[in-house]
Amino acid sequence: MALNCFSKLLKRRDLCRYLLQNDIKQYSNSTVFTTKIINGKLPFENLQKGLFHTPLRLLFTSRFYSIKTAHVDDDNYRNEHNITVIGQDIPSPYIDIENSQFPDYIKQFLNKQGIEKPTIIQSQSWPVALSGQNFVGIAQTGTGKTLAYLLPAVVHIKEKQGRKGLGPRALVLAPTRELARQIEHVAKDFAKLLNIRCVCIYGGAHRGRQAELLQSGVDIVIATPGRLNDFLKSNTTNLSRCTYVVLDEADRMLDMGFEPQIRMALNGVPLERQILMFSATWPKEVRHLAKDYLGEYVQVNVGSTELSANHNIEQKIHICLQEDKMKILNSIMHSISGDGFGKLLVFANTKKFVDMLSLALKRNGWPAVGIHGDKTQLQRDTIINKFKRGNANILVATDVAARGLDVDGITHVINYDFPNTSEDYIHRIGRTGRNQNKGVAHTMLTNDDARQAQNLIAVLKEANQNVPKELEDLSRSYSEDKAQQQQAKYKSKQYSWNSNRRFNKYRSSSKPSNYSNNYRY
Ligand code: AMP
Repeated sequence: MALNCFSKLLKRRDLCRYLLQNDIKQYSNSTVFTTKIINGKLPFENLQKGLFHTPLRLLFTSRFYSIKTAHVDDDNYRNEHNITVIGQDIPSPYIDIENSQFPDYIKQFLNKQGIEKPTIIQSQSWPVALSGQNFVGIAQTGTGKTLAYLLPAVVHIKEKQGRKGLGPRALVLAPTRELARQIEHVAKDFAKLLNIRCVCIYGGAHRGRQAELLQSGVDIVIATPGRLNDFLKSNTTNLSRCTYVVLDEADRMLDMGFEPQIRMALNGVPLERQILMFSATWPKEVRHLAKDYLGEYVQVNVGSTELSANHNIEQKIHICLQEDKMKILNSIMHSISGDGFGKLLVFANTKKFVDMLSLALKRNGWPAVGIHGDKTQLQRDTIINKFKRGNANILVATDVAARGLDVDGITHVINYDFPNTSEDYIHRIGRTGRNQNKGVAHTMLTNDDARQAQNLIAVLKEANQNVPKELEDLSRSYSEDKAQQQQAKYKSKQYSWNSNRRFNKYRSSSKPSNYSNNYRY
């Protein structure tokens, strides 16, 4: 009876808000009591979604952290850094680390890493994540996203009591093995120091070893959706105590067709959970996912929600014939070798062409290594490490290296083939010009890429880059061709409709005469 009354009271949002407004610390005893009841007596499955209104979630999760109330300076900071926030109870951004609400062990870790202040996305995502709210961050790669969600995950694990068991307390889903490995690399920086057990699971690597690690107990699992699904289906692990979930590059995961796997994972986590979703773009598929699983959330956009290219990159466009591409590549290579380059990343669209290009470059005296989806995980890791360490400074790749690859010192990117979308183009060239460095991107386009020309022009204009006349011509001729094709299609449709109608007229002479008059022209 008492429990029933209490759980009804918990559903009252106004009461929760009142409690919060009157200094949460004052109610710390009742909060602990609440948490005990929820953890001890009421199974997660029986809790209604409505119970987890945002302020109430604060009651559960913010016992440790205090939340600063917003003040005028917040808006100034957000305007200055082009941050847009949407949602309720949005805490102030962290302008520096010293005055942030992070516990000392995180501050010390950041200090040790030489990180003096938050990046823009971190400044707003850290306080929101620490407040226990669901979060959507629209920000591009290279903006410090990884620490934006990993450090609050550490605090979540250390400060919040978890259920007993061996499954992970926090889960990070990433679209590609490369990105998953990179996140693991960042996590390893604090794992030993802060006694956090991290496991990275991804396809193409030995299942047995990953299963062993999972079963020996783990705090954070970093996973690609397919491999996580395999382990969930085989009951190697489960997500019953996973109360902190991150979807990194959500748009890309959905693009790659991982929606069923993501939904399966999210269906397996308890209702008392916090979800953080990071995406470079905000298409309707990502919005649906957020609506279905996040309920209430704080959305933070850094810059425009339209994807734009990093302004530190000089973008050079070469309009050419397919058969002239190799010649142009050689001349670009000569010119950049003359100027000197650090590391060079060359993109081609097919695996076969990646192999051919790396061979051709080697033959011309430029030692290149190639990476694509047909290489084994071991080969891919070895090649990326070689490239990272600088033992090989020319990497030829398909889009497996387009996103998330964080390699210092890439000074040039060459798009031998134009990618499928202008978003992929932005991600590819974004491998250079990271951490405020300058970069150069060369891109070849042929007539076959004409449909992309208009979007590319928009990307170039937004980044204040030169738009070559040939590109404008390509875009114009594509639009004209398209208009002509549509006109021809329309005419042929009209002709077939008219001829059908004539045919029908002879067949059914009983049709009223005004019928044909209305539709004649
Ligand atoms: P990410 O977007 O997570 O791939 O991070 C891009 C790069 O920024 C990585 O090399 C990070 O080590 C670096 N980074 C992350 N946070 C900060 C920060 N607050 N200050 C300086 N560098 C950072």
